[in-house]
Order: sequence, then structure tokens, then C-alpha cells
Amino acid sequence: PGTDKKYKRILLKLSGEALMGDEGFGIDPKVLDRMALEIGQLVGIGIQVGLVIGGGNLFRGASLQKAGLDRVTGDHMGMLATVMNALAMRDALERANIPSRVMSSIPMSGVVDHYDRRKAMRALERAEVVIFSAGTGNPFFTTDSAACLRGIEVEAELVLKATKVDGVYTADPVKDPSATKYDQLSYDEVLNKQLEVMDLTAIVLCRDHKMPLRIFEMEKQGALLNIVNGGDEGTLVVE
Ligand code: UDP
Repeated sequence: PGTDKKYKRILLKLSGEALMGDEGFGIDPKVLDRMALEIGQLVGIGIQVGLVIGGGNLFRGASLQKAGLDRVTGDHMGMLATVMNALAMRDALERANIPSRVMSSIPMSGVVDHYDRRKAMRALERAEVVIFSAGTGNPFFTTDSAACLRGIEVEAELVLKATKVDGVYTADPVKDPSATKYDQLSYDEVLNKQLEVMDLTAIVLCRDHKMPLRIFEMEKQGALLNIVNGGDEGTLVVE
């Protein structure tokens, strides 16, 4: 169901994997350019955009732990990976003449700004795309949680999670052709049915602060624009 709501400020979460394109690792500049254009369309119609980018295309703490590294060290590496992705995205946005800035939850003087909520909100008001990097700054969290946290903090009206499929399904639609899509779910349904929407911490955070979530397919042309204009795409998670 569409909300018919036109949004003013949104928080968009992109996974690190989305930046890889067809490669198995790293960053594909062509993908970044395409995303920058989509984001630029939103900025062009006056939408304020906060961005959180994951780091899974480079490092994930849990995978590094499996390979023998200390988990917290691995999570630190994962968070640093998100800063690299954020730098690459800023670069693409700049090339497309879209004003942007990167903030990091881990201070990194001389490279990016340290996260500051009021500065972030002022930048959003000035139509700058604000990229929130380094996750929450803490190990054992994910960038999904960081997206919900920052979205709530900067008073975004909606958190958007870009995925490879066009919403949340009863089962993995790639493996199970009989799977059907949910148009709308409540936070508790997501939790009770253990649907793989976002990690539980992120869902609970959204539930407790009544932050609506929309899961949509980034590859689908025009989907993002349709959503901010109140259209129906993917799956909406609300109370
Ligand atoms: N990470 C972390 N704390 C955070 C956010 C991220 O420790 O608040 C680390 C964690 O190791 C994670 C990695 O950074 O695996 C990359 O983030 P994520 O897995 O969320 O990226 P995505 O799957 O969205 O690409």
C-alpha cells in the first residue's frame, strides 16, 4: 500500500555489495555513477538525502572472525571499509555536481568529518547529501542498525533499504518460485516470522521509535523516485 506521502527527508541504506556490480569484491565506479544519478534526481526535486553505505563488499567482522581474526578487530576493519565506500560515493556524487559530505562515527581528522548530529541536519537542510560512515562506531552492530539509528536521530521520515529483490517475500524468491511478496508488514510480524529484512537490532530500534521502513529494489528504474513521491514499491514496514 502506498502512503501517498511525499517525503522531505529520507535515509537511504545501500549495502556494500550493491557497489560491487558484477565483480566479486571492491567497488565498480559505473555502479556508483548510476547511483549518484538516482540520488541526484531526489536532490533535484528537493528531497534531503542521508546515506548509509555498508562495507560487505570489502570486509565483514563476522567473516574475518571465521577466518581466524579477533571479532572486534574484524568489526573495526568492517567499519573502516564503510568509510572507503563512502569516499567512493562522495567522489561519484561530486563528479555529478551533487553537493555531499561524509561523516564518520570514528574520528578521522583530515579525511572526513566526525559525525555531529546538528551539523548533519544543517547540511541536509542545505541540500547536501550526507553520507554517514563507520556504522555506529561500535563493534557487534551492522550498518542496518546504523541506518536506522542515524535516520531516527536526524529525523528522517523514512528509512529505505535497497536490496536485490523488490521487497520482502515469504521465502527466498530466487530459490522458491512459489514465494509471495508482502506489501506491508508490522515490525512485530517481521520479528515473529523471523523475516530477513534487516537485523533484529535495527527492526527493534525502528519499532520503538516508529520509524517506517521500506525495502525496495535499487536496480528497478525509477523505484526510488516513485517511493519519495508516495508511490508503492517493495514492502513497507510500519506499526
Ligand atoms: N560494523 C560494525 N559496527 C557497525 C557497523 C558495521 O562493527 O555499527 C562492521 C561489521 O563488521 C560489518 C561491517 O562493518 O560486518 C560491514 O557492515 P555491514 O555488514 O553492515 O555491511 P553491508 O552488509 O551492508 O554491506
